[in-house]
Amino acid sequence: MSLSDADLVAPARETESASPRVVPPQVWFDGRFVAADSDRAPLTTHAMHYGSGVFEGIRAYATSDGGSAVFRLPEHLERMRKGCELLGIAFDVDVATQATLAVLRQNGHRDAYVRPLAWCGTGSIGLDVSSVDKHLMVATFPTNVHLSGEKVKLGTSSWRRNPATSLPPLKLCGAYVNSILAKHEAKQRGCNEALFVDEQGRVVECTGANVFMVRGGHITAVEHRDALAGITRDTIVALTGAESRQVRHDELLDADEVFVVGTAAEVTPIDELDDRTYPDQRVGREVAELYRRVVRGEDPRHARWLTRV
Ligand code: PMP
Repeated sequence: MSLSDADLVAPARETESASPRVVPPQVWFDGRFVAADSDRAPLTTHAMHYGSGVFEGIRAYATSDGGSAVFRLPEHLERMRKGCELLGIAFDVDVATQATLAVLRQNGHRDAYVRPLAWCGTGSIGLDVSSVDKHLMVATFPTNVHLSGEKVKLGTSSWRRNPATSLPPLKLCGAYVNSILAKHEAKQRGCNEALFVDEQGRVVECTGANVFMVRGGHITAVEHRDALAGITRDTIVALTGAESRQVRHDELLDADEVFVVGTAAEVTPIDELDDRTYPDQRVGREVAELYRRVVRGEDPRHARWLTRV
Protein backbone atom coordinates (compact mmCIF):
# COMPACT_ATOMS: atom_id res chain seq x y z
CA MET A 1 0.00 0.00 0.00
CA SER A 2 1.13 3.54 -0.68
CA LEU A 3 2.40 5.52 2.23
CA SER A 4 3.25 8.85 0.73
CA ASP A 5 1.62 11.21 -1.65
CA ALA A 6 3.65 10.59 -4.75
CA ASP A 7 3.46 6.82 -4.39
CA LEU A 8 -0.26 6.95 -4.64
CA VAL A 9 -0.37 8.50 -8.05
CA ALA A 10 -1.33 5.75 -10.41
CA PRO A 11 -0.30 5.89 -14.06
CA ALA A 12 -2.91 7.82 -16.04
CA ARG A 13 -5.77 5.51 -16.82
CA GLU A 14 -9.43 6.05 -17.25
CA THR A 15 -10.91 3.04 -15.48
CA GLU A 16 -12.05 5.01 -12.42
CA SER A 17 -13.92 7.59 -14.47
CA ALA A 18 -17.66 7.97 -14.34
CA SER A 19 -17.65 7.16 -18.04
CA PRO A 20 -14.72 6.13 -20.23
CA ARG A 21 -13.03 9.15 -21.79
CA VAL A 22 -10.64 9.31 -24.66
CA VAL A 23 -9.20 12.78 -23.93
CA PRO A 24 -5.97 12.98 -21.90
CA PRO A 25 -6.36 14.39 -18.37
CA GLN A 26 -6.43 18.14 -18.06
CA VAL A 27 -4.68 20.32 -15.50
CA TRP A 28 -6.08 23.61 -14.21
CA PHE A 29 -3.23 26.10 -14.73
CA ASP A 30 -3.59 29.80 -13.85
CA GLY A 31 -7.27 29.84 -14.70
CA ARG A 32 -7.44 27.66 -17.80
CA PHE A 33 -7.35 23.96 -18.62
CA VAL A 34 -4.30 22.59 -20.38
CA ALA A 35 -3.46 19.02 -21.34
CA ALA A 36 -1.50 17.47 -18.46
CA ASP A 37 1.59 16.93 -20.57
CA SER A 38 1.42 20.06 -22.73
CA ASP A 39 2.99 22.84 -20.68
CA ARG A 40 6.66 23.07 -19.91
CA ALA A 41 8.05 25.20 -17.12
CA PRO A 42 10.95 27.44 -18.22
CA LEU A 43 14.38 26.21 -17.15
CA THR A 44 14.79 29.34 -15.05
CA THR A 45 11.73 28.49 -12.93
CA HIS A 46 12.62 29.56 -9.39
CA ALA A 47 10.86 26.60 -7.75
CA MET A 48 12.93 24.17 -9.82
CA HIS A 49 16.14 25.65 -8.45
CA TYR A 50 15.13 26.16 -4.82
CA GLY A 51 11.92 24.26 -4.12
CA SER A 52 10.07 27.56 -3.66
CA GLY A 53 6.56 26.21 -3.87
CA VAL A 54 3.75 24.83 -1.75
CA PHE A 55 1.65 21.79 -2.52
CA GLU A 56 -1.22 19.78 -1.11
CA GLY A 57 -2.29 16.16 -1.30
CA ILE A 58 -6.06 15.82 -1.28
CA ARG A 59 -8.43 12.98 -2.11
CA ALA A 60 -11.82 12.72 -3.66
CA TYR A 61 -13.92 9.59 -3.23
CA ALA A 62 -16.75 8.12 -5.23
CA THR A 63 -19.93 8.14 -3.17
CA SER A 64 -22.74 5.59 -3.27
CA ASP A 65 -25.14 8.07 -4.92
CA GLY A 66 -23.03 7.93 -8.09
CA GLY A 67 -21.27 11.22 -7.41
CA SER A 68 -18.08 12.04 -5.60
CA ALA A 69 -16.85 14.27 -2.81
CA VAL A 70 -13.57 15.84 -1.75
CA PHE A 71 -12.53 15.00 1.80
CA ARG A 72 -11.82 18.00 4.08
CA LEU A 73 -11.06 20.33 1.19
CA PRO A 74 -11.21 23.59 3.24
CA GLU A 75 -8.69 22.25 5.77
CA HIS A 76 -6.25 21.22 3.03
CA LEU A 77 -6.50 24.56 1.27
CA GLU A 78 -6.15 26.47 4.53
CA ARG A 79 -2.91 24.62 5.24
CA MET A 80 -1.75 25.49 1.73
CA ARG A 81 -2.65 29.14 2.28
CA LYS A 82 -0.46 29.23 5.39
CA GLY A 83 2.51 27.85 3.46
CA CYS A 84 1.95 30.33 0.63
CA GLU A 85 1.74 33.21 3.08
CA LEU A 86 5.16 32.37 4.47
CA LEU A 87 6.66 32.37 0.99
CA GLY A 88 4.86 35.53 -0.13
CA ILE A 89 2.71 33.70 -2.69
CA ALA A 90 -0.79 35.19 -2.91
CA PHE A 91 -3.27 32.32 -2.53
CA ASP A 92 -7.01 32.65 -2.84
CA VAL A 93 -8.77 29.72 -1.14
CA ASP A 94 -11.98 30.32 -3.12
CA VAL A 95 -10.14 30.22 -6.46
CA ALA A 96 -8.32 27.02 -5.43
CA THR A 97 -11.61 25.45 -4.27
CA GLN A 98 -13.31 26.18 -7.59
CA ALA A 99 -10.25 25.02 -9.55
CA THR A 100 -10.20 21.72 -7.64
CA LEU A 101 -13.88 21.01 -8.27
CA ALA A 102 -13.64 22.11 -11.90
CA VAL A 103 -10.68 19.90 -12.77
CA LEU A 104 -12.27 16.87 -11.06
CA ARG A 105 -15.40 17.39 -13.14
CA GLN A 106 -13.38 18.06 -16.28
CA ASN A 107 -11.41 14.82 -15.94
CA GLY A 108 -14.38 12.76 -14.73
CA HIS A 109 -12.19 11.39 -11.90
CA ARG A 110 -14.34 10.20 -8.98
CA ASP A 111 -11.78 8.30 -6.90
CA ALA A 112 -8.96 10.75 -7.28
CA TYR A 113 -5.80 12.14 -5.82
CA VAL A 114 -5.76 15.93 -6.18
CA ARG A 115 -2.48 17.81 -6.36
CA PRO A 116 -2.60 21.61 -6.11
CA LEU A 117 0.77 23.31 -6.45
CA ALA A 118 1.61 27.00 -6.08
CA TRP A 119 5.11 28.01 -7.11
CA CYS A 120 7.56 30.77 -7.84
CA GLY A 121 8.13 31.02 -11.57
CA THR A 122 10.47 33.31 -13.47
CA GLY A 123 11.75 36.86 -13.01
CA SER A 124 14.83 36.32 -10.91
CA ILE A 125 16.92 33.46 -9.63
CA GLY A 126 17.89 35.45 -6.54
CA LEU A 127 16.54 34.44 -3.15
CA ASP A 128 14.19 37.42 -2.90
CA VAL A 129 11.02 36.06 -4.48
CA SER A 130 9.02 39.30 -4.33
CA SER A 131 9.55 40.09 -8.02
CA VAL A 132 9.18 36.51 -9.25
CA ASP A 133 5.88 35.61 -10.94
CA LYS A 134 3.71 33.12 -9.10
CA HIS A 135 1.56 30.29 -10.47
CA LEU A 136 -1.10 27.84 -9.39
CA MET A 137 -2.04 24.52 -10.87
CA VAL A 138 -4.36 21.73 -9.82
CA ALA A 139 -3.93 18.23 -11.26
CA THR A 140 -6.04 15.14 -10.57
CA PHE A 141 -5.03 11.50 -10.88
CA PRO A 142 -7.28 8.45 -10.72
CA THR A 143 -6.40 6.48 -7.59
CA ASN A 144 -6.05 2.77 -7.50
CA VAL A 145 -8.40 1.85 -4.69
CA HIS A 146 -7.25 -1.74 -4.30
CA LEU A 147 -4.85 -2.71 -1.55
CA SER A 148 -1.58 -4.03 -2.87
CA GLY A 149 -1.29 -6.57 -0.05
CA GLU A 150 2.39 -5.69 0.29
CA LYS A 151 3.79 -5.89 3.84
CA VAL A 152 4.63 -2.50 5.29
CA LYS A 153 8.10 -2.46 6.77
CA LEU A 154 9.16 0.68 8.60
CA GLY A 155 12.82 1.41 9.15
CA THR A 156 14.00 3.99 11.68
CA SER A 157 15.79 6.64 9.65
CA SER A 158 19.30 7.88 10.35
CA TRP A 159 18.04 11.27 9.10
CA ARG A 160 16.38 13.77 11.42
CA ARG A 161 13.13 15.47 10.44
CA ASN A 162 13.47 19.14 9.49
CA PRO A 163 13.21 20.94 12.85
CA ALA A 164 10.15 23.20 13.00
CA THR A 165 12.46 26.00 14.15
CA SER A 166 14.19 25.85 10.73
CA LEU A 167 11.39 24.80 8.40
CA PRO A 168 7.75 24.99 9.48
CA PRO A 169 5.93 21.65 9.25
CA LEU A 170 3.86 22.69 6.23
CA LYS A 171 3.87 21.37 2.71
CA LEU A 172 6.70 23.52 1.37
CA CYS A 173 8.18 21.78 -1.68
CA GLY A 174 11.85 22.08 -0.72
CA ALA A 175 11.20 20.62 2.73
CA TYR A 176 10.33 17.31 1.11
CA VAL A 177 13.94 16.67 0.10
CA ASN A 178 14.22 15.56 3.75
CA SER A 179 11.49 12.95 3.14
CA ILE A 180 13.08 11.89 -0.13
CA LEU A 181 16.43 11.25 1.58
CA ALA A 182 14.79 9.15 4.28
CA LYS A 183 12.69 7.20 1.78
CA HIS A 184 15.76 6.50 -0.35
CA GLU A 185 17.66 5.17 2.65
CA ALA A 186 14.68 3.05 3.75
CA LYS A 187 14.36 1.44 0.33
CA GLN A 188 18.08 0.67 0.23
CA ARG A 189 17.66 -1.18 3.54
CA GLY A 190 14.75 -3.26 2.23
CA CYS A 191 12.05 -1.24 3.99
CA ASN A 192 9.21 0.52 2.23
CA GLU A 193 8.88 3.47 4.58
CA ALA A 194 11.04 5.48 6.99
CA LEU A 195 10.28 6.56 10.54
CA PHE A 196 11.80 9.82 11.77
CA VAL A 197 12.94 9.91 15.40
CA ASP A 198 14.45 12.98 17.12
CA GLU A 199 17.74 13.29 19.07
CA GLN A 200 15.92 12.40 22.31
CA GLY A 201 14.45 9.21 20.84
CA ARG A 202 10.95 10.60 20.41
CA VAL A 203 8.92 9.55 17.39
CA VAL A 204 8.23 12.35 14.87
CA GLU A 205 6.41 10.96 11.81
CA CYS A 206 6.99 9.05 8.57
CA THR A 207 8.00 10.63 5.25
CA GLY A 208 4.38 11.32 4.34
CA ALA A 209 2.20 10.05 7.18
CA ASN A 210 1.57 10.49 10.92
CA VAL A 211 2.00 7.66 13.42
CA PHE A 212 -0.41 6.00 15.90
CA MET A 213 0.11 3.15 18.35
CA VAL A 214 -2.26 0.80 20.17
CA ARG A 215 -1.53 -0.68 23.58
CA GLY A 216 -4.04 -2.65 25.63
CA GLY A 217 -6.79 -1.40 23.29
CA HIS A 218 -5.83 2.24 23.99
CA ILE A 219 -5.09 4.34 20.89
CA THR A 220 -2.40 7.04 21.01
CA ALA A 221 -1.67 9.60 18.31
CA VAL A 222 2.02 10.52 18.20
CA GLU A 223 2.51 14.23 18.78
CA HIS A 224 5.68 16.11 17.83
CA ARG A 225 6.30 19.74 17.02
CA ASP A 226 8.36 18.86 13.93
CA ALA A 227 5.58 16.72 12.43
CA LEU A 228 2.98 17.93 9.96
CA ALA A 229 -0.39 18.56 11.63
CA GLY A 230 -2.03 15.91 9.47
CA ILE A 231 -5.67 16.23 8.51
CA THR A 232 -6.10 12.46 8.60
CA ARG A 233 -4.52 12.39 12.07
CA ASP A 234 -7.00 15.02 13.20
CA THR A 235 -9.83 12.97 11.65
CA ILE A 236 -8.78 9.75 13.42
CA VAL A 237 -8.39 11.54 16.76
CA ALA A 238 -11.91 12.96 16.33
CA LEU A 239 -13.36 9.56 15.33
CA THR A 240 -11.68 7.41 17.98
CA GLY A 241 -11.01 9.81 20.86
CA ALA A 242 -7.33 8.77 20.71
CA GLU A 243 -5.01 10.40 23.20
CA SER A 244 -2.46 12.77 21.62
CA ARG A 245 0.97 12.88 23.25
CA GLN A 246 4.70 12.53 22.68
CA VAL A 247 5.80 8.92 22.22
CA ARG A 248 9.26 7.42 22.61
CA HIS A 249 10.69 5.05 20.02
CA ASP A 250 10.90 2.23 22.58
CA GLU A 251 7.18 2.63 23.37
CA LEU A 252 6.42 2.11 19.71
CA LEU A 253 8.53 -1.05 19.66
CA ASP A 254 6.64 -2.19 22.75
CA ALA A 255 3.15 -1.41 21.38
CA ASP A 256 0.62 -4.08 20.38
CA GLU A 257 -0.05 -2.34 17.07
CA VAL A 258 1.28 0.56 15.04
CA PHE A 259 -0.55 2.21 12.18
CA VAL A 260 0.20 5.27 10.08
CA VAL A 261 -2.27 7.72 8.60
CA GLY A 262 -2.32 10.29 5.82
CA THR A 263 -4.35 11.37 2.84
CA ALA A 264 -2.49 8.96 0.60
CA ALA A 265 -1.81 6.25 3.21
CA GLU A 266 -5.36 6.48 4.63
CA VAL A 267 -5.04 4.13 7.66
CA THR A 268 -2.26 1.62 7.10
CA PRO A 269 -1.38 -1.02 9.73
CA ILE A 270 2.37 -1.57 10.03
CA ASP A 271 3.75 -5.11 9.75
CA GLU A 272 7.31 -4.45 10.87
CA LEU A 273 9.39 -1.75 12.54
CA ASP A 274 13.12 -2.48 12.49
CA ASP A 275 13.38 -5.98 14.03
CA ARG A 276 9.92 -5.98 15.59
CA THR A 277 6.84 -7.50 13.91
CA TYR A 278 3.24 -6.63 14.73
CA PRO A 279 1.11 -9.69 13.97
CA ASP A 280 -2.00 -8.19 15.58
CA GLN A 281 -3.63 -5.49 13.43
CA ARG A 282 -7.17 -5.74 14.72
CA VAL A 283 -7.59 -2.17 15.96
CA GLY A 284 -5.74 -0.74 12.95
CA ARG A 285 -8.10 -2.55 10.60
CA GLU A 286 -11.16 -1.40 12.51
CA VAL A 287 -9.98 2.21 12.36
CA ALA A 288 -9.24 1.82 8.65
CA GLU A 289 -12.81 0.63 8.07
CA LEU A 290 -14.24 3.48 10.15
CA TYR A 291 -12.22 5.96 8.09
CA ARG A 292 -13.27 4.31 4.81
CA ARG A 293 -16.93 4.73 5.67
CA VAL A 294 -16.48 8.38 6.62
CA VAL A 295 -14.53 9.44 3.49
CA ARG A 296 -17.04 7.66 1.24
CA GLY A 297 -19.97 9.47 2.82
CA GLU A 298 -21.43 6.32 4.40
CA ASP A 299 -21.53 7.95 7.85
CA PRO A 300 -23.98 10.90 7.80
CA ARG A 301 -22.60 12.19 11.12
CA HIS A 302 -19.50 13.39 9.30
CA ALA A 303 -21.07 14.71 6.11
CA ARG A 304 -19.68 18.19 6.92
CA TRP A 305 -16.19 16.92 5.97
CA LEU A 306 -17.27 16.23 2.39
CA THR A 307 -17.40 18.80 -0.40
CA ARG A 308 -19.58 17.49 -3.20
CA VAL A 309 -18.06 17.60 -6.65
N1 PMP B 1 3.30 13.98 7.42
C1 PMP B 1 3.84 14.34 6.24
C2 PMP B 1 5.28 14.68 6.18
C3 PMP B 1 3.05 14.38 5.08
O1 PMP B 1 3.58 14.74 3.91
C4 PMP B 1 1.69 14.00 5.16
C5 PMP B 1 0.84 13.98 3.93
N2 PMP B 1 0.27 15.22 3.67
C6 PMP B 1 1.18 13.65 6.43
C7 PMP B 1 2.01 13.65 7.53
C8 PMP B 1 -0.28 13.35 6.59
O2 PMP B 1 -1.01 14.53 6.43
P1 PMP B 1 -2.51 14.53 5.88
O3 PMP B 1 -3.26 13.57 6.72
O4 PMP B 1 -2.94 15.93 6.06
O5 PMP B 1 -2.44 14.10 4.47
